Parts: sequence; structure tokens; C-alpha cells
Amino acid sequence: MKMRKLIAGNWKMNGLIAQLDDVEEIASKIAIYPEVDTALCIPSTLIRPAAGRFPEMAIGGQDCHMASSGAHTGCISAIMLADAGARLTIVGHSERRAAQGESDADVCAKALAARSADLSAIVCVGETEAERDAGQAEAVVLGQLAGSLPDEATSEWVSIAYEPVWAIGTGRIPSIEDVAAMHGAIRNALTSRFGTDGAAIRILYGGSMNGDNAKSLLAVANVDGGLIGGASLKADKFLPIVEAAA
Ligand code: PGA
Repeated sequence: MKMRKLIAGNWKMNGLIAQLDDVEEIASKIAIYPEVDTALCIPSTLIRPAAGRFPEMAIGGQDCHMASSGAHTGCISAIMLADAGARLTIVGHSERRAAQGESDADVCAKALAARSADLSAIVCVGETEAERDAGQAEAVVLGQLAGSLPDEATSEWVSIAYEPVWAIGTGRIPSIEDVAAMHGAIRNALTSRFGTDGAAIRILYGGSMNGDNAKSLLAVANVDGGLIGGASLKADKFLPIVEAAA
């Protein structure tokens, strides 16, 4: 199935107000690629100013709490992200799974919280290098997928990001064959659980995607876009990836 690709940036804990000048360039040029969906998941502090300044961009958060409000010092709810102007959020990024100990059930609850706030969710899965070396990559990823996706998931509001942990920020990427095999396995799991709509859920690849490798990664069957960390911080690095998706 031919679907619109989604290129989403993940700024992680980077970016001060002044950096929105880089978004200016991205926002002004994405109109050249109307066939590509783009999004920038930025620090919560920047969502309101970015959404106000660039209404043409889908601005997103990087995490949300599973509750809508309450005694959760330092956390942010999906409804707060939406209130600030976000249209989507990442949930279950491997950095949060590792550092904050988020379980699949937590990620599933966060995805549902995003849905309740009318946000789209990018649900992340991915194996560590030790798991891949042990031949467990597919089992780990499919297990995370099964536990992290709510039964209510539909292609309208959910995308998956397959991000091998060992490829994030390292400059290393899996072989094209390994990407094809994992995205194919994820697609099969989605269609057997969600039927025909499972064929329409976008599966993004993430982990050291850049202007040089984007074209070949995005040409792989069932690679429906990218989740871009380091290369999303500057317009001259991000825009070539959007161009590769066009
Ligand atoms: P990277 O990060 O593109 O810098 O490897 C991707 C991510 O963590 O989402």
C-alpha cells in the first residue's frame, strides 16, 4: 500500500527559544513537499511559541503522563500538550524506557492518554544491541509492540517508530535487509491484530537517519517515514530527509 510518509523530528532535551529560528526555515520550505507529512517533537517549553509562530507545522511533545492532571511533580499531561498547541506526542522512546523505567503497559496508557487529548501518538519500540546479538531482536520488538499498543489503536492516530537502541545517536544503522525484515514483521503483527487498518498504520524507522542514508532507508517496503533525532535540530540537516521522502 502506498501511503504518505511522515518525517518527524525529535529534539530530545535540546532547544531554547532562539532555536525556533531554525524552524522558521523548515516551516517555510516544507510547502515544497506537499506529499510528505512533517512534524517536530520539541521540548514542552517551546510548544506554545512554536505552534503560535508556525501554524503550518505539526508541533508535538516527546512524552506525556498517563493521567490528565494530579500530584505528579514535574510531569506533563497530554491535555496540557494539546492546550499548548501540540498535535501529537512521542510515547515510549527507548531513552525513557531505559532512564525512567517505562514499561509496555505505561507506554500503552500514555498512548491512550494522548488519544483522549486528541493527539496522535508515535509509539516507539526497538531492541538493544545485546538483544540483537542474542538473536532476540524480533521477539523483543514484537513483544513491546503487543504490550505498548492499545486495542483502540487505529491508523488515524497511531504511528509506530522502530528504533534499534544501538542505532540511536551512534551513526550506525542496520542493514537494509534487517530493516526490511523488522518492518515486515511489525506489519504482519499489525495486520493480524488490527485487520485491514493495520496495513495503514505508519511504521517509521529511527536511529541515525540522515540526508545520506534516508533515501535508501525510505525506499524499503513498510518504511513509512522516519523519526529523526540529531539531524532534526538544523534545517540544513532535516530538509534533505524530507526531500528524500518526497
Ligand atoms: P538519532 O535519534 O536520529 O539522533 O539517532 C533518533 C531518536 O532517538 O529518535
